[in-house]
Amino acid sequence: MPSPAMPGLMQDWPLTCNRILDHAAIQHPNRDIVSRSVEGEIHRTTYRELRARALRLAKRLEKWGLKEGERAATLAWNTWRHMEAWYGVMGVGGIYHTVNPRLFPDQIAWIVNHAEDRLILVDSTFVPLLENIWPQLKTIELVVVLTNAAHMPGTSLPAVPYEEWLAEVDGDFAWKALDERAAAGMCYTSGTTGNPKGVVYSHRSNVLHAMSASVPDMLGLSSRDRVMPVVPLFHANGWSLAFSAPMAGSALVLPGPRMDGEAIWELLDREHVTLTAAVPTVWLMLLQYLETTGMTLPWLERVVIGGSACPRAMTEKFENVYNVRVMHAWGMTEMSPIGSVCTLKPEVADVDGSALLDIQEKQGHAPFGVEMKITDDDGNPRPWDGRTFGRLKVRGPAVASSYFKGDGGEILDDEGYFDTGDVAHIDEFGYMQITDRAKDVIKSGGEWISTIDLENIAVGHPDVAEAAVIGVAHPKWDERPLLVIVPREGKSPDKADVLAFMDGKIAKWWMPNDVVIVDEIPHTATGKIKKTKLREQFSDYSFPD
Ligand code: ADP
Repeated sequence: MPSPAMPGLMQDWPLTCNRILDHAAIQHPNRDIVSRSVEGEIHRTTYRELRARALRLAKRLEKWGLKEGERAATLAWNTWRHMEAWYGVMGVGGIYHTVNPRLFPDQIAWIVNHAEDRLILVDSTFVPLLENIWPQLKTIELVVVLTNAAHMPGTSLPAVPYEEWLAEVDGDFAWKALDERAAAGMCYTSGTTGNPKGVVYSHRSNVLHAMSASVPDMLGLSSRDRVMPVVPLFHANGWSLAFSAPMAGSALVLPGPRMDGEAIWELLDREHVTLTAAVPTVWLMLLQYLETTGMTLPWLERVVIGGSACPRAMTEKFENVYNVRVMHAWGMTEMSPIGSVCTLKPEVADVDGSALLDIQEKQGHAPFGVEMKITDDDGNPRPWDGRTFGRLKVRGPAVASSYFKGDGGEILDDEGYFDTGDVAHIDEFGYMQITDRAKDVIKSGGEWISTIDLENIAVGHPDVAEAAVIGVAHPKWDERPLLVIVPREGKSPDKADVLAFMDGKIAKWWMPNDVVIVDEIPHTATGKIKKTKLREQFSDYSFPD
């Protein structure tokens, strides 16, 4: 950076994450943080206490010997202790590294070794998993089990119970003074192709991202909100909520290990949650629970749905049956992660009924700090007309500039944009809609067919529980769509009937050439349809003549 001709005379206040927790503890000291603990009972604390314990943890980690720039892994559910772990680790200059327990054990071991984590903070649930991969782990020196001595599982690992370990020091500690550009956190992409890659957030990127994520046209968080992140902290930086909620002074409700419909409903209802966030699979379970029990959602105002496309039928249920505003959102690990949220700009604020659902099918518009473009395969920009698809590229201060250890090489184009690997169109008002992942899009006769659009329409059929579309080789058109469906329990949908249902909702040439009914569709560790596996499964398939 060149030095300025005339420097501004404002305080040089590094944007470090501890400032967020300081703010919450000063301005919102008694705000609730409610967790369903791993041990089962409901635990209550406040931002004041959470800050005090995070400081104590930072001191304990310093005493143990964690140095600035070193990594500490977490393998944990969303609870107050996991939040303390993030802030405590960052507070001593370390880097929280969230590990997704749903990955294959070998992949977890690979990630922990690659990150060179020195210690791991782990929920008792995952102690057996850790024991299983222990012989493969090369850098972990200490296992801190996020519980107390009374609940400590018997284990051969070099493990200590968090509460007693923490109690060995007092809380008299000052956050380490850090450069705002220092690494704060790490999260690996799930690596559906090749090895996972490490995304490294800085203090500055986390703070700026939390600010831009919480404004009214994005998540719109306030101190009157009671926010429940069902999305785990180990998914894509927890969708910013460990930073944006305390920054806004929102109360937090953390679901711990239970994400079934009943457990989620119980917390939404008892804790008067106003805003919650998760992937569509979680909401499918909740909606099924509500349907079978007749329960309702009187407190919930907004539900953020992202991670994969939110089916129209789901939006319709939340909006029209339960009176909950759906905020479709898109993002990725490399973007800290929020890239867009679908809230209503004045240009579309008056729409209702099916026109509103049309808008909500889009993933929305970008916050300050995210610039988007769509291009063809050669990098030429494509128009924002709401129809023309292109490769979606982004740049901004909370977008990755490279991966940990330089894996994957140079990832930005000559204008500094990162290729998201998604295919999208953007309309004149800036509303973006993902139509596919670049590797999933079907190229039929030189034109592109959106698999997501086809899936969304197919799951609207009353007998279809889940749908996936893949491209299958075709002698004339290169590739044509094959629709794979899982029936709803007790239903046996008819192929012709499903196709008739789709007819008229899409261009004729987008119609799937065939429908296959299966018991199950494979998923990734983050709950997305695993198209690579599905393509393998259907590698011998050929269309009927
Ligand atoms: P991975 O699952 O590959 O580890 P992420 O969790 O970072 O990676 O997921 C990012 C990807 O998820 C995006 O690039 C996009 O393909 C998909 N995605 C996220 N939100 C949405 C959404 N609302 N609609 C469609 N796709 C989405």
